[in-house]
Amino acid sequence: MNTQKQAVVIGGGLAGLSAAIRLQYEGFQTTILEKNNDIGGKLHEVSLGTHRFDFGPNTITMPHVFQSVLSDVGENPDNYFQFVPLETHTKNVFEDGSHLYFSSNHEKMIDELSRLDAQSALNYPQYLKEVKKLYQLANHHFFHRTFSSWKDYLSIPLAKSMLSAKPMENLDHFHRKFFKDERIIRAFNRYATYIGSSPYNAPATFGLIGHLEMGDGVYYTKGGNAQIAAGFKNAAEKLGVTILCNEEVIKGHAVNKQLTSVETLSGERYHADVFVLNGDLLTQYPRLINESDRPSFSNKKVDSYEPSISAFVILAATSERFDLHHHQVYFGNEVKQEFNDIFKKGLYGTDPTIYLCTSSKTEPSMSPDGDNLFILVNAPPLKNRNNEMFDRMEMEQRIYQHLEAKGLSIRPSLEQSKVVDPQTLANNYYAYRGALYGVASNRRKDTFLRPYNRSQDLHNLFFAGGSTHPGGGSPMVVLSGQNVAKRIIQEY
Ligand SMILES: Cc1cc2nc3c(=O)[nH]c(=O)nc-3n(C[C@H](O)[C@H](O)[C@H](O)COP(=O)(O)OP(=O)(O)OC[C@H]3O[C@@H](n4cnc5c(N)ncnc54)[C@H](O)[C@@H]3O)c2cc1C
Repeated sequence: MNTQKQAVVIGGGLAGLSAAIRLQYEGFQTTILEKNNDIGGKLHEVSLGTHRFDFGPNTITMPHVFQSVLSDVGENPDNYFQFVPLETHTKNVFEDGSHLYFSSNHEKMIDELSRLDAQSALNYPQYLKEVKKLYQLANHHFFHRTFSSWKDYLSIPLAKSMLSAKPMENLDHFHRKFFKDERIIRAFNRYATYIGSSPYNAPATFGLIGHLEMGDGVYYTKGGNAQIAAGFKNAAEKLGVTILCNEEVIKGHAVNKQLTSVETLSGERYHADVFVLNGDLLTQYPRLINESDRPSFSNKKVDSYEPSISAFVILAATSERFDLHHHQVYFGNEVKQEFNDIFKKGLYGTDPTIYLCTSSKTEPSMSPDGDNLFILVNAPPLKNRNNEMFDRMEMEQRIYQHLEAKGLSIRPSLEQSKVVDPQTLANNYYAYRGALYGVASNRRKDTFLRPYNRSQDLHNLFFAGGSTHPGGGSPMVVLSGQNVAKRIIQEY
């Protein structure tokens, strides 16, 4: 009789792959059930003719997190993907035509800041020290652990660290202590969008993103960031994980506070000792498990979570090569108003900040016959779970017009384009109201008290991904997969 423990991972995003690799290595016979045709979830490659694009994460930080998933199971990460550091990674362009490069080279960064404001340049070393402290605190107390009940918060070191992580100050206020020029503040405040939130609400804790970008550095993956998902998939298969695509889980069967099996659209049933839900827990937990079997996570509770920011993305294949940086941001005129419109009114900004990623600037072979522009405008999450009427074509043209007003004329050399909006994200990945990063961090409760990594009601059901701990963004979800796998291994 086979006594090997069985694990089923629902969803083959980065968090699911990360958990599956570790579980399989530690002796669980692991199966990933993925609804889509391919693995990687929000991180995947899109091709338009000869132009290849990364959808999802364009800015990669914390490369060691991705590498250690493989090195911890005895694999050499370099055999799966290679990171290329982008020293001067982002060009920030402001409405008055001035610009500010962001660089992880400290001398260069000080030169850049002094071009705009001498005092901000003088304060930069102190800023770097502060954000490093915030990172170290989070890394020590939050990043490498699961939270599975309220008791997990009852620790004095944790309480102390939560208080020192500047929970009561907002990110905008934090940045104003160091930087005096509105343009510089704007550029740093954009970090709030990396966690899908507003700098006027998100706690200063997330100043730590400054350490990741300016201290640790920004990376690109050779051949495109989707190589990370492809590498994880290859490693998982090499270790023996069974990966089944086009296998959508539609129901979970619970008996005596245990999930015993899950059922898929194709009519198959998968039994296991332990289950990891990588699909967004805010949409899939309520969908798969009857409300009566999850009294601690009622539908009302689900509705109380504020979704993170969403995005309207255009992938534009052009025959022309533009004078653009790998990461380039065009700031709108009314940045504060834009966050207000998105989070308070549920509207797009009227003069939105536009982010462009053109990986062909670093690796021209990604798009040999022109540029591959990934163009992103912050979008409000969907208002409810129903389809919303929205004119995508009109919005696409509006974005081109905004860029033309800033001197970037894409339409004359546009060969093909593809639009992904919040509704597409909700349809394709079952993302909670189209959110990029699961739950927003605009409220203290949602920052520090995210949904747990484990069901309170079905004890063998665990959660990994952006809606749970430690948070959204590609390195965080990979950590959540690792943390959950380690927790399961300890217990089983
Ligand atoms: C436009 C965009 C830009 C981004 N930019 C960045 C960035 O620059 N840097 C960064 O770090 N992060 C970025 N992110 C966020 C990052 O992509 C996500 O945090 C990360 O990829 C989420 O991984 P995940 O495993 O938690 O979820 P997902 O990738 O959503 O994976 C979940 C998987 O579960 C599957 N699934 C769901 N329900 C079921 C079911 N019932 N049965 C079977 N399968 C199911 C889904 O199809 C999906 O494949 C961006 C995201 C987007 C969309």
